[in-house]
Amino acid sequence: MKESKEYDYSDIKEGLRLHLNESPYSPPDFIIQEITKYLSQGNRYQHPDLSARFKDLVAEYNKVEPSNIFPTPGGDGALRSMFYNFANPGDTVVYNYPSYSMYSVYSSVRGLKVNRVNLLENGDWWKEDLDKLYDLSKNAKIVAIDDPNNPTGSPMLKADKKLISALAENTKGFIIFDEAYYEFSGYSVSSLINEYPNIVIVRTLSKAFSLASFRVGYLIGNKEVIDALNKTSTPFDVALPSLIAGIVAMENPSYAKNIANEISENREFLYNELKKLGLHVYKSVTNFLFIKDDRDLLNPLLTRKIAIRKPINGYYRITVGTKKQCEILIENLGDIL
Ligand code: PMP
Repeated sequence: MKESKEYDYSDIKEGLRLHLNESPYSPPDFIIQEITKYLSQGNRYQHPDLSARFKDLVAEYNKVEPSNIFPTPGGDGALRSMFYNFANPGDTVVYNYPSYSMYSVYSSVRGLKVNRVNLLENGDWWKEDLDKLYDLSKNAKIVAIDDPNNPTGSPMLKADKKLISALAENTKGFIIFDEAYYEFSGYSVSSLINEYPNIVIVRTLSKAFSLASFRVGYLIGNKEVIDALNKTSTPFDVALPSLIAGIVAMENPSYAKNIANEISENREFLYNELKKLGLHVYKSVTNFLFIKDDRDLLNPLLTRKIAIRKPINGYYRITVGTKKQCEILIENLGDIL
């Protein structure tokens, strides 16, 4: 598989954005109102109590302790905290291929030696090459697993306790489970963080919570890791409006559950429609679908102001939006194919 070159999406601001796995919904009004209320109190640094409130709510949501939570500027901020604090130039990092593009970016910025484990095609899904993953992870400083995987949409270790315990015991470094799509997949390794201090979890409110523009996320980990990270940060690292957004979102998590349910239904609809068009589409437990196709679908769709992603040559990734957006995409693909 060869990485594809990036395309210029700048002229599709008005079109259908199905290339970044964003939620199709704007941040909810009840969140915007609360932010406006705080901002109208004047020009202030945030009070550290707000950070504590966010941690309490996130801990409750994940059935862990507040001391296991580190608030971050988005999921990328959580990944950066790990790559920048726990790996030094020349150290080894292991991750799947394909996987989330920022693992490669942060590895390169930090001068890390990269060992990639190619995913294996398995019917409707993609799966881990477990033997290779175990083998290469032994001496890695960081192992990053996006579970479910971006861009394939497949579950990886799927919170399987036996497989994960074996990996955690076998690995000296940190294993990052990137659960950016947790609200869609419904499984997590959060119950393992106390038993295995080298397991950390990346989460984001950019997806089902629809807060991508705020950049709010968090890490879940053993108290020792979180304490170490707390020493590298200030309570102001997540901007006040974003922290308020995060707090109000975590006070009302059912809205994200509803969005995740709706998008998951739309995903099944889109999956079936893409199959009817004769496309080779894989099953997914996320808010996007992965397609194998050698034709150029990207440019004809871009001229129709529909953006999809070509993460790798011969493959496409399409974000699942509203039912209407799915229908528009299908209609346009039908014309093109
Ligand atoms: N991890 C994965 C697997 C992702 O797909 C993304 C976003 N596309 C992130 C992390 C980063 O999320 P955020 O937007 O919160 O930085």
